Amino acid sequence: MAEASSYVPNLFGSMVFNEKVMKERLPKDTYKALKKCRDEGIPLDMSVATIVANAMKDWALEKGATHYTHWFQPMTGVTAEKHDSFISPNDGGGAIMEFSGKELVRGEPDASSFPSGGLRATFEARGYTAWDPTSCAFIKDNSLYIPTVFFSYGGEALDKKTPLLRSMDELSKQAVRVLRLFGDTTTKKVTPTVGPEQEYFLIDKKMYDQREDLIMTGRTLFGAKPPKGQEMDDHYYGALKPRVTAYMKDLDEELWKLGILAKTKHNEVAPAQHELAPIFGDANTASDHNQLTMEIMKKVAAKHNMVCLLHEKPFAGVNGSGKHDNWALSTDTGKNLLDPGKTPRDNAQFLLFLAAIIKGVDDYQDMLRCTVASAGNDHRLGAHEAPPAVVSIFLGDELNAVLESIEHGTTYKGKKQSALEVGIDALPHIPQDTTDRNRTSPMAFTGNKFEFRMLGSEQSISGPNIALNTIVAEELSQFADKLENSKNFNADLQSLLQQVIKAHKRILFNGNGYDDSWIAEAEQRGLSNFKNTPESMIAYISKKNIKLFTKHNIYTETEMKARYEIHLEHYNKIINIEANTAIDMVKRSILPAVSSFMDALSSSIISRRNVCKSIPCTAETETLKKLATLSDKLYHTCEDLQKALDSIPKNTQKAAYYYHDTIFSLMQEMRTSADEMETITARDYWPYPTYGEILFNI
Ligand code: ADP
Ligand code: MG
Repeated sequence: MAEASSYVPNLFGSMVFNEKVMKERLPKDTYKALKKCRDEGIPLDMSVATIVANAMKDWALEKGATHYTHWFQPMTGVTAEKHDSFISPNDGGGAIMEFSGKELVRGEPDASSFPSGGLRATFEARGYTAWDPTSCAFIKDNSLYIPTVFFSYGGEALDKKTPLLRSMDELSKQAVRVLRLFGDTTTKKVTPTVGPEQEYFLIDKKMYDQREDLIMTGRTLFGAKPPKGQEMDDHYYGALKPRVTAYMKDLDEELWKLGILAKTKHNEVAPAQHELAPIFGDANTASDHNQLTMEIMKKVAAKHNMVCLLHEKPFAGVNGSGKHDNWALSTDTGKNLLDPGKTPRDNAQFLLFLAAIIKGVDDYQDMLRCTVASAGNDHRLGAHEAPPAVVSIFLGDELNAVLESIEHGTTYKGKKQSALEVGIDALPHIPQDTTDRNRTSPMAFTGNKFEFRMLGSEQSISGPNIALNTIVAEELSQFADKLENSKNFNADLQSLLQQVIKAHKRILFNGNGYDDSWIAEAEQRGLSNFKNTPESMIAYISKKNIKLFTKHNIYTETEMKARYEIHLEHYNKIINIEANTAIDMVKRSILPAVSSFMDALSSSIISRRNVCKSIPCTAETETLKKLATLSDKLYHTCEDLQKALDSIPKNTQKAAYYYHDTIFSLMQEMRTSADEMETITARDYWPYPTYGEILFNI
């Protein structure tokens, strides 16, 4: 292999039609027009698009691509693509490779099978895709991938990218208004930056293939705790096993080719669990890249005879997987607005942005909670391994003390002996918190960014970022409205901060979020606690939230109602598949296996008694009795579950509650019996690889 100093840079972005390639291959004017379009959102002429399309095609052909596809993010949570070849017939009966501006800019995939929540009546099955020039095209598996938005005939968003782009624009607009208040006349654009840390499990393909539940649902529906779990804390940051090292190396290279800045990799808390973190980028690219990362993680695992599990809770009793959405705001002049800065003026500006986030998170706790709700994440949030289902903010001691001083106008205990005057005094040094000691907080300030830690590992990061962007845009717009006409800016700013801190400090919590006492305290503070997906989804249709999103043109009311339907339907389908899989496993594998083992036990008892009546067979008899009781119970619960599945309410919302309260509970009950049976059934008889075998095999 070539020396890494040139090998990696040559590899990096080699499959991306990026800024460098654009500059090299496009005529100057075209490049300029495209750059303006990418940076400032100025629409491209079709004549310019045609030149771009041609250059893209030539570049793609040189890299071996034969096809192109519009790549979009429908509400399924995964990406979608439909490939067309560049091929076009010519006069002599041959073929030439062509790609027009129109084909680059617009596509018309048959959309009838994507979830639309009733937005697209089936007679109007058409959906449209439109090129998103702000995210770079790339080549994968011999196709040119063009990132696109996806919308209906009536213009309603059918995807996760459209509202994300809308929310980024709106946030930029409001943030720039606020920057003007502080005398910043140069910043034209503010971009939310995002770095998503991604957790995952790697298991052996042979094990996976033997587990119907993993294949059908992505998680184990049964499985007793292994003798050794994660209690030794020996996996976190532990030395990587050779197979894992080989996988990660391959994965890095595949991601680098696509211009994804994969940076950090390490073992996580649970056995067989790992994490990958990229260097942050703008929220749109970060979101595209995270979708690609998840896809490639699975693909590369297959090459190594492993399976990458992205489910939020593949194994009960073992830590599940989440995603940390690191979020900050960056100006087009290269400044991070969540960096407290060094001068009193920078500090004051930072404090105002901080106040917007504090107020926004408090005002819209329900909305943030709802964006991370899913059947998979229901297993984690509030289960003492991930943040609780209650949203709160961690600021750290230093910043907390600063806010207290502002709130009360009291002496700040730092170096100054007077009360902290915003805009006049400098903030004390705020340490960059890179430790894990506050990992229990749903939303932690870590020195120059917020880390939203409630996301599930498998989910798209778009939803949470759409909400964050919009919420902060709303609060910034309120602040700008108030301060734009101020006669005494510093004093008005100070009193605004005071008001915000007073009214919203209930959302600030520095303690241990896993502690039950926090949940009780949070309730006293009036914070909301939505325990599961059906409860959380209401946020999509609350008056307050509809007002927020429609005011900023992120979603229409119809789009929000559609999203509510889609998410609940998705939840219902998942539980339904899980329930049917569980029944199948119990009836066709677990009960028959245990029955065979009971036969063996019975034969053994009988034959021993034949030798001598008084010979002890306590172990066999007692095990037999226990298994007989458990299998009886398991059978009946399974019957109950099957019956319950026959009476699912028609209404989506009612069905969701029913799936949660009735179906899921019965599944848990089944699991309790089955898992106990596993622990007393001879190894050779149990039909599935155990947790121990799966988790400690690589
Ligand atoms: P940790 O969370 O383990 O302390 P880091 O602070 O290095 O690790 O960063 C974690 C993630 O946060 C990385 O993906 C990193 O790129 C991202 N990140 C760092 N700075 C920013 C920022 N300004 N905006 C968004 N994400 C950021
Ligand atoms: Mg982190």
